[in-house]
Amino acid sequence: MNGFCVECGITTNQTVNGLCMPCFLKDRTLVTLPDHVDLFTCTSCGQFLRRGEYESMAPEKAISMAAKNALTCIREGKVVKTTTSIEPRDDYNYAVTVACKVAISDFEADAAASTIVRVKNTVCKICSRRTGNYYEAILQVRTSEKTLSSKLQDEVLKKVEDFVDDAATTNPNAFITKMEIVPGGVDVYLSMIALGRELTKALGDNYCAQVDESNKLVGQTRDGIDMYRVSYLVRLPEFHVGDIVRYGKKYYLLTRVANTGGKIRSLNNFADMTVRRANMPELKVYAKSSELETADVISISRGEIQVMDPQNYSVKDILVPKDAVIGETVTVVRIDGVLYYVPL
Ligand SMILES: [Zn+2]
Ligand SMILES: [Zn+2]
Repeated sequence: MNGFCVECGITTNQTVNGLCMPCFLKDRTLVTLPDHVDLFTCTSCGQFLRRGEYESMAPEKAISMAAKNALTCIREGKVVKTTTSIEPRDDYNYAVTVACKVAISDFEADAAASTIVRVKNTVCKICSRRTGNYYEAILQVRTSEKTLSSKLQDEVLKKVEDFVDDAATTNPNAFITKMEIVPGGVDVYLSMIALGRELTKALGDNYCAQVDESNKLVGQTRDGIDMYRVSYLVRLPEFHVGDIVRYGKKYYLLTRVANTGGKIRSLNNFADMTVRRANMPELKVYAKSSELETADVISISRGEIQVMDPQNYSVKDILVPKDAVIGETVTVVRIDGVLYYVPL
């Protein structure tokens, strides 16, 4: 032992500012809290503001964190452990006591401070955008047919919703402002330009659709940056997988649609062919998959079968692929009065 306390003179090696620990701690307030701490909560989504960001958390946790974050400690010490107790005064005011362990050199002292956490109602930026009908992009889904079938409409909207839900798990700014059924399609108002761009690409690829975009200057931000609203057009093609299409005066079954183009199977020789995406608009729908007929099979020989014509019950010979597995019925399409086997 070669140190001593300048206050009481005791010999010790553990001194802070020349004082032994009991003299240093005597009448000293180690931690303090302000008289009150404001905690902002969004009345719409219930999230709490913490370090400039809204976060979803249990009210008790938000209240205790608000108090802990306001805690200040003397500069000689460091708060190493805290426990909070919350006493509600009413729905908006909570008396919070933070008990803590304060490390001062290699000594740990107990300390505590109290405050009132006042919960203040507000609306977060995201909720205010939602309620304010905020949008940056309009996704215009249109059909090449007279009307967009409700089945296809539901299918597309489900894809849009799933996509935005997925994006929202990592970005709370991603949301659908509204959807509007319009003649020949549907308009989806989106909170972010990126959503519109990505959805247009995804839907375009999925349906081999024609896409387009146009920008409109809608104003400037406070720091003088031009603000655009972007319209994305996705024109869904008339064709769908399973339809019979005409391509270059011949008839085919459309077997696949992808971002690169389509695959078609000839009704004459059952050979597969690919169509580049740029040429896909040349496909003309001859019969929708829902319009195809079913014929009873009477007899089967290699590469050919006899079926009963479902319209007049006469027996017809039709070509089938050599390796086709033929059941009791087959799907057929009538072109210029002749039945063709549909190689599904
Ligand atoms: Zn002392
Ligand atoms: Zn909110």
